[in-house]
Amino acid sequence: MIRFNCPPTLPKSLEYIKQAFESGNTCGDGEFTKKCNEWIRENTGAVDAYLTTSGTSALEMGAMVTVERDDEVIMPSFTFVATANAFAREGAKCVFVDIRPDTMNIDENLIEEAITEKTKVIAPVHYAGVGCEMDKIMEIAKKYNLKVVEDAAQGVYAKYKGQALGAIGDVGCFSFHETKNYSMGEGGATLFKDAQVGDWGERIRENGTNRRRYIRGELDKYTWEFLGSSFLPSELNAAYLLGQLEIAGEINDDRIRTWNNYKERLMDLQNEGLIEMPTIPEHCEFNAHMFYFKMKDIEERTEFIRYMMEDKGIKVMSHYVPLHGTNGGNRYGRFVGEDKYTTKESERLVRLPLYYQMKEEDFEKIIKSIYEFYKK
Ligand SMILES: *Cc1c(COP(=O)(O)O)cnc(C)c1O
Repeated sequence: MIRFNCPPTLPKSLEYIKQAFESGNTCGDGEFTKKCNEWIRENTGAVDAYLTTSGTSALEMGAMVTVERDDEVIMPSFTFVATANAFAREGAKCVFVDIRPDTMNIDENLIEEAITEKTKVIAPVHYAGVGCEMDKIMEIAKKYNLKVVEDAAQGVYAKYKGQALGAIGDVGCFSFHETKNYSMGEGGATLFKDAQVGDWGERIRENGTNRRRYIRGELDKYTWEFLGSSFLPSELNAAYLLGQLEIAGEINDDRIRTWNNYKERLMDLQNEGLIEMPTIPEHCEFNAHMFYFKMKDIEERTEFIRYMMEDKGIKVMSHYVPLHGTNGGNRYGRFVGEDKYTTKESERLVRLPLYYQMKEEDFEKIIKSIYEFYKK
């Protein structure tokens, strides 16, 4: 079986995990966590960055500092449920707009029409690590005095016009889930552009207390200030992650090499009009988070997934079922405008295996199998 994803298993990570284990301090906010936070700040330009227990909890923090009950948040319907859940939990409504077929990202030209007097946040999702049109999105946010919470779960180490994804909006959310480019098993990070909001974020993740200041010796006791939760990951997870962040450039290059190879080798199928491959805009430095292409329709895709898995032992996957057609989507949100691409394009999309240090023979088998499928 060729797996869809294999997280990096670096000796350095193991060494760091051992160090964390033997230090006797495995709870949150120790040395490894601090180093990861520092790496994120240095590599993105974020003023504050905090590791969290997941990308989901990073989004929850983002929602806590930006919305209240009955506010509205504009987001794509083609996203992971966590983007919507985070805001809906605060009592806000999700307002879904259509995506662009070329990048599968929110169509920046449809955002303005969806704004009402209740709108507080725009939540762009950088699908596959390719940046949304942030210039336009930030311009709209400024004009209507909205906050921008970037779901950059897939966007670690990627850029838009030289700016790191996750550090362009007011809040950015990374995921270090096992399926993402850099893994801590389960984990994430919240990035803040503004120190005051960052300070709020730091206290939210300590159950809404000023405990961090107490630990730093700035206070002689700590107290409950507002609603929060516990979003601190263990040092063991941070140690695992740090080993990868230290060679992030190398991991990124390796993924991009595989991605480019896929694109080159499948070009004949695209030229024959059988598949459509993704577009990476000139001004986006992507991170090869995933390789996908689009097929004729959902029937062909179903047959392809079956063929690859059952006949060839290769795990390939579809992706999100748009949120606006689901029970949760109807209850917590609404779609504004026409669903021109969200449903149609999501039904045609299929993802191929892609991970750090993919074996060449596996890669060749995948390519060969795809061509065989189309010869049948
Ligand atoms: C992975 C992902 C998340 C959630 O991250 P977890 O770490 O799994 O909680 C949120 N949004 C998007 C777009 C993702 O891909």
